[in-house]
Amino acid sequence: MSQIKKVVIIGGGFGGVAAAKQLSDLPNVKVVLLDKRNHHLFQPLLYQVATAALSPSDIAYPLRSIFSKSSNIRVVMGNVCDIDRSAKEVILEDGGKFSYDYLIVAVGARHSYFGHPEWEEHAFGLKTLNDALRIREKILLSFEKAERAETPEEIAKYLTFVVVGGGPTGVEMAGAIAEITKKTMVEDFRKINPKVAKIILIDSGSRLLSQYPEVLSEHARRDLHQMGVRVTCGKTVTDIQADRIYFGDEMIMTANIVWAAGNEAAPLMTKLGVELTRSKQIKVRPDFSIPDDDHVFCIGDCVSLMDANGKTVPGIAPAAAQAGRYVAKLILKRLHGQPKSGERPFKYMDKGSMATIGRASAIAVIGPLKLTGLLAWLAWSLIHVWFLIDFRSRVAVMFSWMWSFFTHHRAARLIIYVRKRTANK
Ligand SMILES: Cc1cc2nc3c(=O)[nH]c(=O)nc-3n(C[C@H](O)[C@H](O)[C@H](O)COP(=O)(O)OP(=O)(O)OC[C@H]3O[C@@H](n4cnc5c(N)ncnc54)[C@H](O)[C@@H]3O)c2cc1C
Repeated sequence: MSQIKKVVIIGGGFGGVAAAKQLSDLPNVKVVLLDKRNHHLFQPLLYQVATAALSPSDIAYPLRSIFSKSSNIRVVMGNVCDIDRSAKEVILEDGGKFSYDYLIVAVGARHSYFGHPEWEEHAFGLKTLNDALRIREKILLSFEKAERAETPEEIAKYLTFVVVGGGPTGVEMAGAIAEITKKTMVEDFRKINPKVAKIILIDSGSRLLSQYPEVLSEHARRDLHQMGVRVTCGKTVTDIQADRIYFGDEMIMTANIVWAAGNEAAPLMTKLGVELTRSKQIKVRPDFSIPDDDHVFCIGDCVSLMDANGKTVPGIAPAAAQAGRYVAKLILKRLHGQPKSGERPFKYMDKGSMATIGRASAIAVIGPLKLTGLLAWLAWSLIHVWFLIDFRSRVAVMFSWMWSFFTHHRAARLIIYVRKRTANK
């Protein structure tokens, strides 16, 4: 390879950062990493920002700092609004253009409200720091409003918390809200008793955490029940309004609804001119390239792929990172003129999965091992701290966790009046 080649990566999440790191410091490759935000976000701990356990800077890291020592990587902050495949250019909202020899699209996913976008106004989802801070604000403000409310009905409305979606995020949110109401807040109010708060977790499926073995789902349900969470499976949400939610044959008055139920790929995927699935993902080829184009690769949560083992690649951080590294290596091989015939299709390496339920309670599947309780929670904690991007965050998160483990306090209980609407992905 003699000529310098340009690789443009859209998205500085798990997939984009892994791809860029793989291409770092190579002499004949120039990389432009574009993101509409200036930070890489560790989404797995986002619920802890939403529930005041961690601060935003504990789980987000400036993209520029990640690549400050990689001379061939240019980080550009900008919102990509179009992709012109015939001109091999990506176009930014502000009119900026970047040409590419190879393009990697790693723009992730956003919430889906199953055809009811109007629900978003009352039921915030959790994808960005802004989302997390809005949820935190709503939860904390609800306690303040309950303290000043005049009637028992009004107090009950502010002290009822509904989480829609029984996947890992929904379970984590419900468990964390239970801890806040039953432990953190108990001594802080004079008129209300936060312990009487109701927490309801709704899922339309037959059980929580449906991607985990049934025995672990049941364990999670039992732990949540002990923490005071009412788990309601098999009921579909039919309407959400400012002060109430309808599901199954029930209606509940509540000022707090968290949406953790549906995902769809980021809107940019519609600009590639390729057929999309129902959740707006692109069905990529086994090497993550899009149909009919060997120069455009899509990875992470915005794609759907059955890997070489015949298994659907899951929408989780390790899968996005593995895809990023795989595609970057593939591009390098092609730049060095290696024949496509020698390439191996992607195989996802499953190192296990885990979800936390609350203090000292989690579930984990690692190979044939199924863990629950304190052991699973310790494994979850260590792995999540380990994968945080920098040393300062690891120390800060460990310290915050130890502090709240022994005191039940949450350090980030601040109401700061966050932006009303998130610039949704
Ligand atoms: C609340 C929550 C909890 C989770 N918990 C876990 C967990 O415990 N374990 C786990 O493995 N996974 C977890 N996940 C999933 C995991 O975070 C995702 O699978 C992973 O982030 C996907 O990586 P990605 O690179 O595809 O997208 P992302 O990491 O979402 O990155 C996408 C990037 O693209 C940028 N972007 C989007 N559109 C544009 C545009 N038009 N122009 C410029 N930039 C753009 C975004 O700003 C973002 O930085 C969780 C996700 C959430 C939301």
